Amino acid sequence: MRGSGSVPELVAQARAGEARAVARLITLVEDESPLLREVMAALAPYSGEAQVVGITGPPGVGKSTSTSGLVTELRRAGRRVGVLAVDPSSPFSGGALLGDRVRMAEHATDPGVYIRSMAARGHLGGLAWTTPQALRVLDAAGCDVILIETVGVGQSEVEVAGLADTTLVLLAPGMGDGIQAAKAGVLEVGDLYVINKADRDGADQVARDLRGMLAYGSRAWRPPVLRTVASESVGLAEVVAEIDRHAAWLVESGELSRRRTRRARSEIEAIALTSLRRDWADVGGSHRLDALADDVAAGHCDPYTAADDLLAGP
Ligand code: GDP
Repeated sequence: MRGSGSVPELVAQARAGEARAVARLITLVEDESPLLREVMAALAPYSGEAQVVGITGPPGVGKSTSTSGLVTELRRAGRRVGVLAVDPSSPFSGGALLGDRVRMAEHATDPGVYIRSMAARGHLGGLAWTTPQALRVLDAAGCDVILIETVGVGQSEVEVAGLADTTLVLLAPGMGDGIQAAKAGVLEVGDLYVINKADRDGADQVARDLRGMLAYGSRAWRPPVLRTVASESVGLAEVVAEIDRHAAWLVESGELSRRRTRRARSEIEAIALTSLRRDWADVGGSHRLDALADDVAAGHCDPYTAADDLLAGP
């Protein structure tokens, strides 16, 4: 490990809220460090306290601005906040690329706020591997609320929804594809919908369209549709109130434990698959899968037998 400090020391420091220890532990996650086994074992008793909120939506809709405004609201209420900005499509780590995306300068010196960007591509296990482990670190460090902000495009909305307790979907008027995006899967994942940039024409229309579409849903929780002007901090207190109302509903309905079990399931799966893939790659410097693929491609072996060989180990 870089620098000094054993795992138990680092964990104790992170538990005491030391930002540098928290940062070190999340770096271990990013680096896929072999020490993580020990770290996660030490953190396990301290997880499950934080409220995890995913914030997603098309680029430019105001996610960064809203995240920063929500941090302000949460801090006003004295709550400790973690922010994890995840770029599922970026291979760069350490926040070089993400750093300036997170409009967090005003929170940088607040000891009650942890901010971290994380890239997921390039990891064998991807987002499903890195994010839950980073969440465990922030949770153990005493964050009351953790905001996961997704950066980038693609299927990340759906993936992040699987990791959060509450998923907030941001849309905005005049983005053309706002409702299109909603149609393409986002309608199923949102627990809360926020029409940001409500200072612009068309916000009412987007809200009406969305409410119309959501009315057909048969979910036990009817997602509210709110309006905000994040750049002016308008409506964000209401968003926090709705996040909390959803959190209470999650507990009452039993949905919280279902979601957390689902999250643990995908976390275990990601760790197991990553470890399998690592085993395949590590035999005598050559990739076992490559040798088997040569055999299958040449017709020397069928793919089922090859898969059995792979799973049976060296
Ligand atoms: P992200 O890509 O979803 O993270 O969006 P950003 O938070 O970076 O915001 C994109 C742009 O929209 C920035 O120039 C913001 O200043 C601006 N913006 C954010 N919220 C609002 C809003 O409520 N109204 C208006 N007019 N602009 C906003």
